[in-house]
Amino acid sequence: MFAVVRPRFVRIALLISLVLISFGLNPALFAAEELVVYSARKEHLIKPVLDRYTEETGTRIILLTDKAATLLVRLKAEGPNTPADLLITVDAGNLWQAVEQGVLLQVNSEILKENVPRHLRDPQGHWFGLSIRARTIVYNTEKVKPSDLSTYEALGDAVWENRLCLRTSKKVYNQSLVAMMIAEIGQEKTERIIKSWINNLAAAVFSSDTKVLEAIAAGQCDVGIVNTYYFGRLLRKKPDLPLALFWPNQDGRGVHVNISGAGVTKHSKKTNAATALLEWLSSKDAQNLFADSNMEYPVNPKVKPASEVAAWGTFKQDENNLAKAGTRQKEAIRLMDRMGYE
Ligand code: FE
Repeated sequence: MFAVVRPRFVRIALLISLVLISFGLNPALFAAEELVVYSARKEHLIKPVLDRYTEETGTRIILLTDKAATLLVRLKAEGPNTPADLLITVDAGNLWQAVEQGVLLQVNSEILKENVPRHLRDPQGHWFGLSIRARTIVYNTEKVKPSDLSTYEALGDAVWENRLCLRTSKKVYNQSLVAMMIAEIGQEKTERIIKSWINNLAAAVFSSDTKVLEAIAAGQCDVGIVNTYYFGRLLRKKPDLPLALFWPNQDGRGVHVNISGAGVTKHSKKTNAATALLEWLSSKDAQNLFADSNMEYPVNPKVKPASEVAAWGTFKQDENNLAKAGTRQKEAIRLMDRMGYE
């Protein structure tokens, strides 16, 4: 797992230290850690968090942000020569893909096990959730009463005919939602549900959660499924929109949640320092910085969400391990394709 330190490198390192000491320089200063982070989170969301870490520890961080798929291709191509120490991305489906590509290291950390609930981390320790994103039902408050709603499944009922809006199945968020459904209620039931959703669509699928929200607010449809932070963002700009969130499946498996998360890269040369950063990101100190910037929920149960987020109410979340969003991902994509979910 860890690279074997060759005696020749040790000799060279010692020699360098001796040279530095002979010039009156403290080698520890030169050893001040520098970590390279590849992040699929947008720079304005992640940079302030990493800056705080630098302030607190002196560890310098070089940040490279790009799309998850691009970072994955890059990590794979760089192989053992990658400068990256940590990969931060969103959605367990993407983190699972990173494990499949062999770019993440197995990490065994008591701190991470303590701070990150079991269902929000890889059972093998390759990745750990850092914030929770709830994918829930949103409705038009002028046309729907909360008592009309119950479960994701029920959005396929006849009463919602021509009233449902969905984002495209090409987005990993929906792939993970459906993958978890397959894992929990089985392929046949999931197939029926997806089919019933498609029958109830009021419009062609949308390219973003925000467009789904806008369509519901505009009366093009009455209900949909979105990540809560898109709801939060839109309502910040337009607080008068007739939209509200509903927490489904509260008598059953709970609300589908996903994560943004991270893992130490397989070929990091600084696995201890990278793990320390990951542990800090899951700590009380960092959790609000990390989650609040995008109106998400902290993963660490000891940390409360921002008041704006807390105002949406509490809910029971699905506690099945999110690794299943990865293992059932291909099946989910095929199933949605078969059912005509574009
Ligand atoms: Fe998003």
